[in-house]
Amino acid sequence: MLKIYDAANHIDAQLVLDELLGADIEAVMKGQFLSSGAGELPPTGMVTLWVVDESQEAKAKDVIIDLESRRQSCGPAQDCTGCGETVEGNFACCWNCGTMLPNYSKSF
Ligand SMILES: [Zn+2]
Repeated sequence: MLKIYDAANHIDAQLVLDELLGADIEAVMKGQFLSSGAGELPPTGMVTLWVVDESQEAKAKDVIIDLESRRQSCGPAQDCTGCGETVEGNFACCWNCGTMLPNYSKSF
């Protein structure tokens, strides 16, 4: 087992984990239950992702680099019209409530 990613928060970790699993990389999240004190303590650095099979490290890093480049190339984050949650610009709908976002631009 090898640590592959320090997530900004639980949501960031889940997004990256979904990408890894989608690329057939066996990965697990750790530390997500330690962030229950959010609001009092900054959750940064507590949630991490690990690859189970260390031979997949290079592939996993490629997936993360690709995801981060897509994040930078898409539009800015926007606030959901349904619940007010901030949603990354590369999503067509709110991760929290499912409302379609008006400014989604399919540029990739
Ligand atoms: Zn929403």
